[in-house]
Amino acid sequence: MLMRKTLNSLFTSYDLFDSLFSNTKQNNVLLMDTEGVILEINSAFSDVFGYADDDIVGRHFSMLFTEEDQLKQLPQKELNNVLEKGQCNDNNYLVNKHGIKRWVSGESILITNKESKHLILKVIQDIHLQKTYEHSLEQLHDFNERIISTIDDIVFVVNDEMRIIKANKSFHQLFGEIDNENVDFNDIVKQLDNGDELKNQMQQALRSDAGFINKETQVITRAGEKKIFDVSCRRLEEKDNKRDLLFIMHDITMVREDERRREDIIGFVAHELRNPLANLVLCNELLSETLKDNDIKESLEFVTRSKNNIMRLNKMIAELYDATKAGSGNLQIEKQLFNFDAMIFEAIETIKVLQPKYEIKVRGSANIEVYADRYRLIQVVTNYLSNGIKYSNGSAEVELIVEHNDKIVTVAVKDKGLGIAKENLPYIFNRFFRAEKTKNVEGIGLGLFLCRQIIQAHNGNVWVESDEGKGSIFYFSIPV
Ligand code: ADP
Repeated sequence: MLMRKTLNSLFTSYDLFDSLFSNTKQNNVLLMDTEGVILEINSAFSDVFGYADDDIVGRHFSMLFTEEDQLKQLPQKELNNVLEKGQCNDNNYLVNKHGIKRWVSGESILITNKESKHLILKVIQDIHLQKTYEHSLEQLHDFNERIISTIDDIVFVVNDEMRIIKANKSFHQLFGEIDNENVDFNDIVKQLDNGDELKNQMQQALRSDAGFINKETQVITRAGEKKIFDVSCRRLEEKDNKRDLLFIMHDITMVREDERRREDIIGFVAHELRNPLANLVLCNELLSETLKDNDIKESLEFVTRSKNNIMRLNKMIAELYDATKAGSGNLQIEKQLFNFDAMIFEAIETIKVLQPKYEIKVRGSANIEVYADRYRLIQVVTNYLSNGIKYSNGSAEVELIVEHNDKIVTVAVKDKGLGIAKENLPYIFNRFFRAEKTKNVEGIGLGLFLCRQIIQAHNGNVWVESDEGKGSIFYFSIPV
């Protein structure tokens, strides 16, 4: 047999090599000539790569390489290397009998047999599993790195010398580009509102096993913006005696801002509701006095004042209720067919009862049938009219203009009152917005917000034109 013959002539200590060649399970051995033609394989090679002697002996060893590696001339390069240097290592795929690629690590050695013939001995380790494992670890690592770099939270790691050894994109966005592994955490801490406190916490965390969570801290950004963070710190698992700390800073500026706004609104609403309520209590007390004195005229006056205060309270509560409904998209719209002019007439009558001293001039008309929520449109018109009166600054004249074509009907309410400052105009239909100079006039800033919600629910538009000090025109239009 070729194998026995070659080995016999090759080794003086034949028995030793024969037992290694035949019995090893880990070393897949291949013997070939200097042209790369395979002369022998051992049983370990057969077990791992599936080839029997007949499949492989006498063929060129390039058959074991992938097409890609053959194109790169890897087999030839390997041969040249081993012939030139007497030894070479390689790390690549080998293809098994079933065409499946296995990652291997091999060593080729140039040897000379007794007949002074050069041969190449190739010992191959199948490291496919290890390689696959390494590959998935790399992928996992990449994946983790990608998550950390893309999340909005600020994530960074400091070592026990308080130097930053890792930081994600959000960190750089807040504190500026820093050279990892080179920045002293103390320099960063200086930018924090309660930096010293955080530093103490951190030093404690370094000394003990415990980290900390939910420490609130303020940062003034480079753009001068104040940001509030919820900071948590964990000690990473100890590795090579290193005690690294992982920091996560979660931006809670908006949460705190929302909380503050909510508290402001509750305070403001409670304050506004207290006014008519206090008036009501006072009117009732005075009413009991006047009743005791049998003064009917005075008593009627206090009854009227009480009624007005109840109506004010009622309006505020209804607006608050509607605003919550509108805010959650649940404002009910009940459409019906009605005459638009008749609806306008009813709205004007309502205002006239409440404000008999004011004159409301009407221009234009819309004697047409529209399909809309009549009650809600009256609410919009009365709100525009009562604002025109409320912010009239003494001018008793309010004008209502109605226009229509086949598609839309437009209503405008024009007053010659306070007007609205240019910078306030974009916010005038926002919830709770009130212009600074009207804060002494009673109101809670929900009327126009509701008008907009109602008109938008009809697929219409609201807008305003105003000249500060001269007056305003509030518009709405809806499809007929
Ligand atoms: P409220 O009148 O209860 O404050 P609105 O939502 O109706 O609430 O109005 C919001 C704000 O818009 C008012 O506080 C006032 O500053 C301003 N505003 C509304 N209508 C007029 C108007 N006709 N003239 C001047 N300012 C107005």
